[in-house]
Amino acid sequence: MKKYEMLINGKWVKAKSGKTREIIDPGNGEVLAVVQEGGKEDAIAAIEAARAAFDHGPWRKTMAIDRGKLLFKLGDALRAKAKEMAELETRNNGKPLAEAEFDVADAANCFEFYGGLATKIHGETMSVPANSLSFVVREPIGVCTQIIPWNFPLLMAAWKLAPALAAGNTLVLKPSEFTPLTALELAKMCEEVGFPAGVVNVITGPGAGCGEEMAVNHKVDKVAFTGGTATGRRIAIAATENLKRVTLELGGKNPNIVFADADFESAVDGALFGAFANQGEVCSAGSRLLVERSIHKPLVEAILKKIPNIKLGHGLGAGVKMGPLVSKAHREKVESYIEIGKKEGKLLCGGKRPSGAQFEKGWFLEPTIFDDVKPTARIAKEEIFGPVLTIIPFDTEEEAIRIANDTEYGLAAGVWSKNIQKALRVVREIRAGITWINHYHPTFNEMPWGGYKQSGTGRELGLHGIEGYLEIKQINVNLDEAPIGWY
Ligand code: NAD
Repeated sequence: MKKYEMLINGKWVKAKSGKTREIIDPGNGEVLAVVQEGGKEDAIAAIEAARAAFDHGPWRKTMAIDRGKLLFKLGDALRAKAKEMAELETRNNGKPLAEAEFDVADAANCFEFYGGLATKIHGETMSVPANSLSFVVREPIGVCTQIIPWNFPLLMAAWKLAPALAAGNTLVLKPSEFTPLTALELAKMCEEVGFPAGVVNVITGPGAGCGEEMAVNHKVDKVAFTGGTATGRRIAIAATENLKRVTLELGGKNPNIVFADADFESAVDGALFGAFANQGEVCSAGSRLLVERSIHKPLVEAILKKIPNIKLGHGLGAGVKMGPLVSKAHREKVESYIEIGKKEGKLLCGGKRPSGAQFEKGWFLEPTIFDDVKPTARIAKEEIFGPVLTIIPFDTEEEAIRIANDTEYGLAAGVWSKNIQKALRVVREIRAGITWINHYHPTFNEMPWGGYKQSGTGRELGLHGIEGYLEIKQINVNLDEAPIGWY
């Protein structure tokens, strides 16, 4: 049984309470590893280490090119262990191995993208109405706490670490208490490639106590959070105590709109992939499929025809396309929405646990589709975060836009049409931060990620992602030699 400690100030340490937690493989219920159950006092220790490393350590003086080189090395270290890391991610989160392999490669790319960007952080000069050389420099914010969810454990860690480190901050990362293993392995790699002690601290523990301290602690300059909207709201409130910077990547209930003039086969694939990739445990999942009424019937038939291709099983199994949900409690939550859905729409498929000995010990659930769902139904409004698709027919472009925007969320949206003018027109009307035309889900390290409305604030990834880890300072140099002579 593998045992993990937490990385604080360059040392691997146990939780001060002595408590530990068993980490479970959601595909078979086996205990995978034991980790530290960190609490408030461990969060404080990690924050103090990050504070000291920022205020007094060598990191702030490390040149951008050297910060970048370390990130490239981290990308290399991850690639060198790509196979083990993908398998570990699958065992801990449940996702199919092919998806975990993709996540590992994407995480390595993320470190490389920001490794390159470290040397491109730049300021500007402005001509001002005085004899002054006035210019702007960008500086690291300082100590950043970073709290991430369980659905993309390694990738979310990369999205947090890479821009923060490229910009020269020190940090404390806390993975989800359900899926900490790949983040802990990544912490080992950070140590191996040579980030100075205290720059990267990785702690494990629940939101209560451990996570809460990361949001409220006054020695923290910024908290970056990815997770549920309700948690994000609590974090934002806690962060106001010392007015720390906040970025929030929260939930979504994303519309995937198929017009009658779309390429039919592509739209069918896009609808399925949008809804069921990663078991539907994706903030940007296309969980509301809006279908133009004239193609509603054939599209639904074509979607149902492909459902048997979604092979369920342990994520490491050959040909598996959908793994278990992350935990027993989460499956129960999704099942409770299925019960609500049975009263709100027409259940077309799924809605139950798969039968068979291979499924008995894991948290499996069949891909589930509800049709003829009213836009006002709870299953059309609330984030279910599982393999549940709701289909809503519409008649006009205006109606599609209205339904798409009738949500408190604004994370992502898809539009399917061969008429590019129409597709662009619709996308421009949709209040969401991430949109796809004739595609669903591709996510690029180069492009900004984040939501409108209650899907969050701030952006990760791309050039915008690093802005969230930089302060802006103006410097004015008086070029007049004479005293000001005012008094
Ligand atoms: P969650 O909000 O329950 O937990 C996320 C993290 O926050 C965990 O590490 C948890 O320990 C911690 N946490 C919980 N309560 C806390 C508190 N009071 N103070 C500080 N930390 C606390 O979310 P989850 O169930 O792990 O993840 C699912 C959610 O994440 C979904 O809503 C999904 O949409 C969202 N998500 C968003 C994005 C995005 O980029 N917008 C990406 C992935 C997931």
